[in-house]
Amino acid sequence: MKNLEEYVRSIPNFPEEGIIFRDITSVLQDKDSLKLAIDQMQDTIKDIDFDIVVGPESRGFIFGVPIAYNLNKGFVPVRKKGKLPCETVEMEYDLEYGSAVVEMHKDSIKPGQKVVIIDDLIATGGTIEAIVKLIKQLGGEVVKIVFLMELEGLNGRDKLKDYDIEAVIKYE
Ligand code: 5GP
Repeated sequence: MKNLEEYVRSIPNFPEEGIIFRDITSVLQDKDSLKLAIDQMQDTIKDIDFDIVVGPESRGFIFGVPIAYNLNKGFVPVRKKGKLPCETVEMEYDLEYGSAVVEMHKDSIKPGQKVVIIDDLIATGGTIEAIVKLIKQLGGEVVKIVFLMELEGLNGRDKLKDYDIEAVIKYE
């Protein structure tokens, strides 16, 4: 069997000139790499004490839900503004050009709950920084953040110095 890393497809100049996009559709469509990805991410949290998984739209859902299910935990989605039907809390964060807003349901995290955040990739860390702020606002405690991939050159970890971060695949 190939290494998990070999299943990630790297697409030059997507979505813009100069960006190498790390495509996970090639990981998802193969039964061996799908299992490797879920298992390796899950292994990083199998021995820690936590209550619930949080994952951002949309690739955080793909990995977050099976891991939550396997470990017998619930899953909380973070969505782009305007998608969640009940009362929400929201956080704005900077993108390369402009900004974005993410939302969570106000009753999704109970005060004192220990939270693991799961997403496919950390680049600048802006998305996860906003989500960490929302979880804190709701009274939750982030105990671990797990990614399939990390783009180390963008120094996303610098924004999240106080947190325990794990990435299965690292790119310089
Ligand atoms: P950040 O907020 O850390 O700069 O960006 C991370 C977010 O952008 C993640 O939610 C991730 O899904 C998306 N993203 C940025 N670059 C890539 C990439 O090369 N591949 C994939 N799969 N997602 C990316």
